[in-house]
Amino acid sequence: MNECIMCKGNLVDKKTNFIADLEDCIIIVKGVPSQVCSQCGEVSYSHEVAAQLEKIISRMKNTMTEIAVVQYSNTACIA
Ligand SMILES: [Zn+2]
Repeated sequence: MNECIMCKGNLVDKKTNFIADLEDCIIIVKGVPSQVCSQCGEVSYSHEVAAQLEKIISRMKNTMTEIAVVQYSNTACIA
């Protein structure tokens, strides 16, 4: 099992909501596969998930919505 970079606690696989607070809008990605520390609650993402989140954010911030809520599972095809 992986260790937390903050406190060396155990990381647990969990789906979390990722919130990006940008200048003009807020983007919420729900159901993101992540590892959460059972001790301090620190959330970390795998390399693939982090890259995918970046793609989602850069795509969504071009839309004119102030608040965007997307399901991570619906964005798996964004290349
Ligand atoms: Zn921790």
